[in-house]
Amino acid sequence: MSEMLVLDFDKTLADTDGLFDVLCETAEQVEAGLGLELFEYNANRMAAGDQREMFRPDVVLGDRAVEVFATFSALVAGSDKEYIFEDAERLLKKVKDLGRAAVILTFGDEAWQRAKIEAILGSAGYDLPVVYTEEKIKSKVLEGAWSEERQVYELNSVSAGGIVGVGDERSDFVGYENLPNARGYIKNRRQLSDLPENVQSIGSLDEIELSA
Ligand SMILES: [Mg+2]
Repeated sequence: MSEMLVLDFDKTLADTDGLFDVLCETAEQVEAGLGLELFEYNANRMAAGDQREMFRPDVVLGDRAVEVFATFSALVAGSDKEYIFEDAERLLKKVKDLGRAAVILTFGDEAWQRAKIEAILGSAGYDLPVVYTEEKIKSKVLEGAWSEERQVYELNSVSAGGIVGVGDERSDFVGYENLPNARGYIKNRRQLSDLPENVQSIGSLDEIELSA
């Protein structure tokens, strides 16, 4: 059984910086004042020490979320800016062509992560299973997905005997050294030291080797 790719989304597959601003602009278009409300809600929760990833637009948007997210998705898809990274697009194409198992494992508020992933990957024609988690230590999710009895990982009905994690931050790989049949790649411009021994630092996703 070949390995399953477990992909981080934000800043690994796509340039997600600036999308919060796009969402605020979209909300403002849908209803005057709504974008500002979102902006202030986010500023307040960040000032209170909340995690950046736990931005919950639904708290402010309520029933208007459906319309705002639909407009957001159309804006992102129609934008001149390419949000998906070129190396990510090559990797996803390779995965598709080779028929490899792959899932996105993303940390953050589900509604916001879903809006970004659907807007960016949907418009690029990629449809991957997504696991949403509010657990920052992703290895805990992976540990929970491992069946000792069957010797497989099962994530969102995709199963494989081993995993290849791909991310852009150290936090994506905390605890990786304790996972069975796991290895990882951290995409970072600098070569990082002190990584778990089964995690390798790479400059581009093109360096990922998929085993036969
Ligand atoms: Mg990331």
